[in-house]
Amino acid sequence: MNKQVSLTRANKKLRVGGKLSRRLKKAYLGNKLNKSKLKKLLKSVSFIKYKYPDSPTILPYEFCPECGCQQTRMTNYHVEYPEIWVEWFCARCGYQVAQADNSPYVHVLEELFCDKPYLERG
Ligand SMILES: [Zn+2]
Repeated sequence: MNKQVSLTRANKKLRVGGKLSRRLKKAYLGNKLNKSKLKKLLKSVSFIKYKYPDSPTILPYEFCPECGCQQTRMTNYHVEYPEIWVEWFCARCGYQVAQADNSPYVHVLEELFCDKPYLERG
């Protein structure tokens, strides 16, 4: 089976709230990080802050602090303009990883490590 095709299918399925088959899930999400790897990953998090836009870049990448997964599922609540209410959930464990609630996009890693000094830039 072509991997690209199955990933597109996985994405579509998740978007409509469907469950993935075991094989598809593995292809889409990859292997789950073990605890020590996740700890290391959490420790390595740093931010690049810009003057504009407000949301900093998260290094090494954005991931779920519960399981280390990078895939997300987005829920847009389609509230009336000019309101914004969008939430992103981990595609593996369902943990809420980000939100934009009448605010710029905020990733949970920013909240977890809000006392970490920014690597300034821009
Ligand atoms: Zn997760």
